[in-house]
Amino acid sequence: MSALADLVSTATPRPDPRGCDLPTCPVCADSMIAAEASAYLADNAISYLWTCDTCGYGFVTKHAVKSRFACN
Ligand SMILES: [Zn+2]
Repeated sequence: MSALADLVSTATPRPDPRGCDLPTCPVCADSMIAAEASAYLADNAISYLWTCDTCGYGFVTKHAVKSRFACN
């Protein structure tokens, strides 16, 4: 068990740049790794569905989508 915990704790030395805004579980404060699902909303917003692997709590976050791909 401890060997597995060590492996997990060192598996992500540097988070993906896209994942710099990863939330933590409001129930057990565990870090979310990847969203279960995502959906684009109106007004350049995107929502993510997260499910905590540790406690099973599910929640949704909304993020503003930057117009980083716009050509001007
Ligand atoms: Zn949790």
